[in-house]
Amino acid sequence: PEVARLIAAGEVVSRPLDVVRELLENALDAGATRLEVEVEGGGLRLVRVRDNGSGIPAESVSLAAVRHATSKLSPKPAAALHVTTLGFRGEALWAAAQAGQLHLVTRPASQVGASEVLAHGDEVTVSRTSAPAGTTVSVSNLFAALPARLRTQASPAAEVREITALMGRYVLHHPELHWRLTVDGEVRLTHAPADTRGAVASVYGPLSSNRVLNVDAVGVSGVVSRPELTRARRDRMHFSVNGRPVLAPPELEKAVLEGYGELLPAGAAPLCVLNLTVAPEDHNPNVHPAKQVVALADLPDVAARVREAVAEALAAHPL
Ligand code: ADP
Ligand code: MG
Repeated sequence: PEVARLIAAGEVVSRPLDVVRELLENALDAGATRLEVEVEGGGLRLVRVRDNGSGIPAESVSLAAVRHATSKLSPKPAAALHVTTLGFRGEALWAAAQAGQLHLVTRPASQVGASEVLAHGDEVTVSRTSAPAGTTVSVSNLFAALPARLRTQASPAAEVREITALMGRYVLHHPELHWRLTVDGEVRLTHAPADTRGAVASVYGPLSSNRVLNVDAVGVSGVVSRPELTRARRDRMHFSVNGRPVLAPPELEKAVLEGYGELLPAGAAPLCVLNLTVAPEDHNPNVHPAKQVVALADLPDVAARVREAVAEALAAHPL
């Protein structure tokens, strides 16, 4: 059972990047407007996410790291298909407590005292403390008890690159929030509320942000770069669906390229940040544990909307 449990936890948390993503999604679900991430030792030594969101009420905090005890699932099971929060499995904190040591401090703005939870494996202790409103979750010594898992980890530098890229995607898709990423005590990325163009400046620098055009169509908003700002790789093409960054299906990338038509040199990819809004019932955000893969019921229709929106944005700005 011990082994089975660790394997199950490993499905949810297989590397520090997963911890960062799950903790950020929880913070977004909690309505945070300020999200701060700290990473040490490539995330294996420490991942900490501090938010100013709703906090967890003292009466339910002892359930936070209990498997499947999510507060986000309505009693109607069918509601799971239409869920609009970013996570509803109730497994992330549980898995983090299995794979490492979980330390959570939380206080809803309406409560006077804060709660502190320490969880590791089956051991959970809850105590009272004081803290600002919001939640700070720290996961330390990830996989310390799992040498096999530890051996297959990327180098700290490679993991930090991935974490930085992930944070960049969150900034690009949620430019209205405050963000900060600190790596081994050094600030790597900061962003104060702005529009998408401002987020491009925070992530890629002002030269890039001066070369993007706004996209503003029904269900598709964001920015695309002028045709001269291109790269051979598609690593600056970003999509979100209903607020969550997703790994774009190739069909959507292709739709963007088609929107440029002749304007884009062959083999070149633009920078784009496109936020797609679809009806919740057309979108299953939980097809993959890492929850980055997106399943859209009507992909051809969405792709057509993207192609049109990009073409319109380029047509509206004589180059
Ligand atoms: P899920 O997000 O799928 O519900 P998690 O294991 O990620 O499950 O979190 C468990 C529960 O802990 C959440 O349902 C939520 O009630 C609470 N929680 C976790 N992180 C936060 C946070 N940053 N702010 C407020 N509540 C949180
Ligand atoms: Mg969650």
